[in-house]
Amino acid sequence: MNDIGRKDGAPAALEYISREKINEVAEYLQGTAKSLGDALETFSLEMDEGALQQALLEADVEICGQCDWWHEVCELEYSEEHGCGHCQPCREELGLESEE
Ligand SMILES: [Zn+2]
Repeated sequence: MNDIGRKDGAPAALEYISREKINEVAEYLQGTAKSLGDALETFSLEMDEGALQQALLEADVEICGQCDWWHEVCELEYSEEHGCGHCQPCREELGLESEE
């Protein structure tokens, strides 16, 4: 677990990448467990992983902190305890779902 891209005063990610490009990257990552490094290399991006992760949030794509798969932001629920978002199956696995 790291906190890149979550620091205050981080540069606006979209200064480094166009909206069009970030949508392409988002499409490339969504539904996969590819790493940010993989995406940076595939798209020859000159930015750090934290900035890319932030830009992806703008495109509604976020990584699950547990299984490392990329999901639509709305599919993840943020966990204060873990400091990251989790997808539904992981929330169940981690026992984060409230009892029905
Ligand atoms: Zn997950």
